[in-house]
Amino acid sequence: MNLSRQVKSQPQTGRSPEDILRWAYETFGGTVTIASSFGLEDVMLIDMASRLYERPDVFYLDTDLLFHQTYQTIHAMRERYALNLRRVSPEISLARQAEQRGEELWAQDPNQCCHIRKVEPLTRALNGYKAWITGVRREQSPTRATAEAVEWDNKHGLFKINPLVLLNTDDVWHWVRKHQVPYNALHDQGYPSIGCMPCTRAIKPGEDARAGRWAGFNKLECGLHP
Ligand code: SF4
Repeated sequence: MNLSRQVKSQPQTGRSPEDILRWAYETFGGTVTIASSFGLEDVMLIDMASRLYERPDVFYLDTDLLFHQTYQTIHAMRERYALNLRRVSPEISLARQAEQRGEELWAQDPNQCCHIRKVEPLTRALNGYKAWITGVRREQSPTRATAEAVEWDNKHGLFKINPLVLLNTDDVWHWVRKHQVPYNALHDQGYPSIGCMPCTRAIKPGEDARAGRWAGFNKLECGLHP
């Protein structure tokens, strides 16, 4: 798709995160939403967005399997920022999932588990919006190495905006520390990337930032950023 036919003067990859985010709010206003797992990139984005737009729309996918430190981070962010915060849940409970698909589906078929608890809820979360903002960075994994600042999300039919795409980990920490943004305590315990409890472990020295996700499976993404 030719993006320039859809919106005027979208920022190129290489512009500053603030420029990209400002463009997003000027272009889409209340019809842009931030996808947040409340990881380091996401709390940075929320802080930055709150400086540019009143009461930004933010959603998170509550799989019912998040770390208690993640819920603490959500609480801290709610206290600190004025957000239109949406909690999006899977259509079935963990108990129903176990009945229908077997106990601990994440250990048998994580793709199916992610589909039920993340991918389908994401589609509902984006319904009615014109753009979504993510914390995707090229440095995070090979699957993200070609991400652009502004993309057309063909699957969901809206723009996908990745303001932090060229930042490195130090850049993100610098912003978070400088502005004293609340962050997930697990980041200080060897968890650079934090998802659901059963599928996230601390990484060892020298490992890729996402090596602690779905360890033992040939899987790097939950399906939200294909
Ligand atoms: S990350 Fe693990 S527990 Fe969470 S939805 Fe995916 S497979 Fe299930």
